Amino acid sequence: MVGPTFAFFEGRIVPYAQAHVGMLNHSLNYGTGVFGGLRAYWNEAQAQLYLFRPIDHFRRFIESSRLLNMQLPHDGADLLRHTVELLRAEEHKADMYVRPLAYFAEEMIGVRLHDLQARVAIVAVPFGRYLEHEEGAHATISSWRRVDDNSIPARGKITGSYVNSALIKTDAQRAGFDEAIVLNSDGHVAEGSAENFFMVRHGELITPPITDNILEGITRRTLISLAHDDLGLTVVERSIDRTEVYLAEEAFFCGTGVQIAAITRIDHRPLGDGRMGPVVTRLRDLYFQVVRGGVAKYSSWLTPVYDVERIAASA
Ligand code: PMP
Repeated sequence: MVGPTFAFFEGRIVPYAQAHVGMLNHSLNYGTGVFGGLRAYWNEAQAQLYLFRPIDHFRRFIESSRLLNMQLPHDGADLLRHTVELLRAEEHKADMYVRPLAYFAEEMIGVRLHDLQARVAIVAVPFGRYLEHEEGAHATISSWRRVDDNSIPARGKITGSYVNSALIKTDAQRAGFDEAIVLNSDGHVAEGSAENFFMVRHGELITPPITDNILEGITRRTLISLAHDDLGLTVVERSIDRTEVYLAEEAFFCGTGVQIAAITRIDHRPLGDGRMGPVVTRLRDLYFQVVRGGVAKYSSWLTPVYDVERIAASA
């Protein structure tokens, strides 16, 4: 991985090496941070870098911070402006991953959420695939359970709850799978370790509702509208039983990092004919066109990062 050169830190862009917190930092010790994950896609023909749905990502970031009683020193418009500045400073002509992080700045002993100062840092790095087998992943059903809303809310991106994701992911990979599907404490399908989950059953596209202990994913929302509005599919948000996934014609994980990864086997059982199916294929094709700026009606989801004339002059 190519590392970051700069970071947005304490209100300005600084060399990455200057962005650090102390060993007693509250969020490092107690998992009381919140983060986001955005992608910016490089469009070679247009010499443009498009940040995908930043307003929605920063809205969820701010909502996640509210779950932890944080008062961020920036609003969504500020965060977008600083992200664009940071991406311009990094100057890559490549697909990028952007990681905003909100954390409590105090270095002290004492676990709580009140009377603490929240800060935001942002870094951005070139980024390719998250899962190696995006066109045919082998998933297992994890023996872990997704964190419950009454313990740690899964709807927001809270750093501490990624212990749950890490336990799920490591066991799945060590057992030879690409990823895991995790059930919630009711036994219904929640999501992947860091992805939302969809399946196709009897021709309908089905995904768990946001009240089933899942992250309120931006890609999930994007695909619900693309599937319905552009592909004419029936999309249903409802709880999914464990054994339904074995009967699915198709299934996939989705998320900013993973994009859309077809699940072609679950616990050694092939789905459909064991290859990436037609619904996942059409959704992936459309999604990649949309995020790279190829579908005019979705241009409002994209923020162009570069000043096109300046890039052309420096090429
Ligand atoms: N679920 C979890 C647990 C995740 O970490 C992610 C990645 N952010 C997702 C789902 C997908 O969310 P999004 O589409 O907003 O990236």
